[in-house]
Amino acid sequence: MTERLPVLDKYTGDVIAELPVAGPDQADEAIASATGAVGQLPYQERALALRRAARLLDERRDTVVAQYVAETGFTPADATTELDRTLLVLELCAQEALRLTGEMVPVQAATGHEDSLCFTLRVPVGVVAAITPFNAPLSTVAHKIAPALAAGNAVVLKPAEQTPMSAISLVQALLDAGLPEQLLHLLHGPGETVGDHLVRHPDVRYITFTGSTETGRHIRAVSGLARTHLELGSNAPTLLWRDADLELALPLVARAGYRKAGQVCTSVQRLLVHETIADEVVARLTALVQEITYGDPRAPGTQVGPLIDTEAAERAEGLVGDAVDRGSRLLTGGTRKGALMAPAVLAGLPDAARLASEEAFAPLVAVDTVGSLEEAARKANATRYGLQTGVFCQDLDVALTFTRLLQTGGVMINDTSSCHPDPMPYGGVKDSGQGVEGPRYAVQDMTDARTVLIRHRPRYFS
Ligand code: NAD
Repeated sequence: MTERLPVLDKYTGDVIAELPVAGPDQADEAIASATGAVGQLPYQERALALRRAARLLDERRDTVVAQYVAETGFTPADATTELDRTLLVLELCAQEALRLTGEMVPVQAATGHEDSLCFTLRVPVGVVAAITPFNAPLSTVAHKIAPALAAGNAVVLKPAEQTPMSAISLVQALLDAGLPEQLLHLLHGPGETVGDHLVRHPDVRYITFTGSTETGRHIRAVSGLARTHLELGSNAPTLLWRDADLELALPLVARAGYRKAGQVCTSVQRLLVHETIADEVVARLTALVQEITYGDPRAPGTQVGPLIDTEAAERAEGLVGDAVDRGSRLLTGGTRKGALMAPAVLAGLPDAARLASEEAFAPLVAVDTVGSLEEAARKANATRYGLQTGVFCQDLDVALTFTRLLQTGGVMINDTSSCHPDPMPYGGVKDSGQGVEGPRYAVQDMTDARTVLIRHRPRYFS
């Protein structure tokens, strides 16, 4: 009998769906079917399918949002933001399909090739395995499958087992939009079995993965010669320099540290604050966070719902307890009931606290003070992660000096670490990942350059 995967409503605990778990034979069949479909769809049809899918998703908005809220525990506002981002990603990838091109290569420098013509074609890399995490079940999936399809590849997608319903909606919209089914396969099940089978498969040429650093490390170890794109864990800092515009910064921090219950890879986890403004920042941020309504994500006004499961909330509670044991002050929140955690602010973050270096993935911000830019950079870098960093500062010389001192994938000046307009190149360094996402960059990376040389002998005037 086929094993079933129950999908739970993250607030009520009700079973909202039961999906068939893919076995190895099904995964093999999907890869074989995908292999035969690579490069088969003309550019304009790729763009058309992506655009039509965006329109269909938009038309199905109410259902998609309701399903998203149920499977994630995030609020309808978070769902809507993510859906709108998904529509944009589909559109941007459609545009990339229409301008995908190689380049002319000036080979005339090489003896004997004075008159040769050389150029590159961008050709599909092959079968792409896309493996995605629970916390952005629409837009992260779109950032993987849409560029892969725009580039002419065929995709086998395995979404997170906790939140597969949004992926089903996205895949269905693409198929309803006319995408041939051989180009896009959806497999459900645990990462340890279904995901593992995909990443070890010799016919998978490209693996695009977002998830934890531990899983990313495993994928690199077992995936052989497949190209891997990895978006991994984080412990993102944001700096408030002494001249920071607090009217701008604090509401953004109060959102970026807590939306989706802090389960965002770029979520502000550490707020580094210049010592001259630390007291004011702590008082004002605490007041803002105390106003955050948390609980049932469907209740009007709720800004923060539960964590993905009780285990995740218990882990977050443990991190808060560890920080307090080592000398942090818990100013608000941090209490837990099941998977629900009250949004927390901590002041003071000893270097030895686990929160200083590990990823919390929870609704909390730890405020730490700094006296100099060097100290701010040292603290920002004192983690194995390096995804994105925010800095609020009026003096661009300071902001750019800080930028140069950091070990990070991106620096958001006068915004938080969580700022992520979808067209930009986005990716981490160190244990936060390899490669960059963003439609233009992903499409390039999901193609190979095929070099074409034409030797020709021009007829010169005699
Ligand atoms: P996870 O690593 O547990 O799971 C991610 C995906 O990998 C799931 O689909 C899972 O089934 C699959 N998987 C698990 N084991 C596997 C294996 N052995 N082989 C193949 N696939 C396997 O991560 P999660 O808990 O779903 O997501 C949270 C993590 O994702 C956090 O660390 C967060 O920082 C990270 N994340 C990073 C970014 C980024 O842009 N850098 C964005 C979102 C989330």
